[in-house]
Amino acid sequence: MSKLPAPRLKAFLDALPKTETHLHIEGALPYELLQKQDNAQWARPPLSWAPDYKFGSFAQFEEELLTMATQWYISPERYHEAARIVFRRLYEEQHVRYVETSFASGMVEFLGLNGQGIIDAIKHAAPQGMVVKVFMGIHHAGYNERTRGWIEESVQWPHLDGIDLHGQETDPVGEWAPRLWEKARANGMITKAHAGEFAGPEFVRYAVDDLQVTRIQHGVRAVQDPAFLEELHQRGIAFDICPISNVKLDVVPTMREHPIRRLVDAGFTCTVSTDDPLSFGNQLHEEYQALHDELDFTVEELGELAKNGFRVALIPDELRQRHLDEIDRVVADFAG
Ligand SMILES: [Zn+2]
Repeated sequence: MSKLPAPRLKAFLDALPKTETHLHIEGALPYELLQKQDNAQWARPPLSWAPDYKFGSFAQFEEELLTMATQWYISPERYHEAARIVFRRLYEEQHVRYVETSFASGMVEFLGLNGQGIIDAIKHAAPQGMVVKVFMGIHHAGYNERTRGWIEESVQWPHLDGIDLHGQETDPVGEWAPRLWEKARANGMITKAHAGEFAGPEFVRYAVDDLQVTRIQHGVRAVQDPAFLEELHQRGIAFDICPISNVKLDVVPTMREHPIRRLVDAGFTCTVSTDDPLSFGNQLHEEYQALHDELDFTVEELGELAKNGFRVALIPDELRQRHLDEIDRVVADFAG
């Protein structure tokens, strides 16, 4: 199928119900909230918003993001205020109907915030018609003497939907992790892990074998090992992918070379999200648009990606089917 003219693609994406299943709430901070606080310091948007920007390293990315995020996120009330803006925009401007967002356990540790307070503050920010699920992201070194007590408790917090592994993939993970992930699942939580972004297939192997997750955040480097990729497919592993993030962090050199094309062609369940729009300056529409423009994703294929977000969503089947049916109708309206 040929490319849609830009206005028609925009109309399609406006009408398409979508999900964000890989969104860090700290990395989604609306920039104007920083400007409202200190207009002189934050007068200009970050340099990393430029479309051709490349971060020098993950450490640089992480430091810049934390510098911005910790200016704002100092209380559950601040989480609520930011999340209200984030979710309303996703709902009204990007036609997003389901969100899985994570907050960093480090914010509980370093700022002494109340973890359950953060979760409730985020959830109460969801507009009518949008389902929001909250995950706690724990760094590779996030479980230690000081945090052990409340992190062990957290997998029983009634409003926490799951846990995720965050941070430098090349840092070692302690023996606490597989046990905690198992305990979370035993309590009915969903478990995820960031893997295959900077480390290779061997770390994806750790995530699916040791942590036993079926939802990989990024995972794109798994394509380096075709035999393993086939195994992941057999096991029904899903990838929550953030294409613009991957290009700006130089996980892949260009959008044209992004492995999401190979993963989709191999039959994987891939979803599309923005990761950290505070740092990348990206909107969800732009992710879909880039796949159309650079990787020749058709209207039908973009519809499948949107459907995958609802297929993995933690929602009742009846609601899931309603979203899938609506996507079918929108795709039928716009397909060649
Ligand atoms: Zn992420």
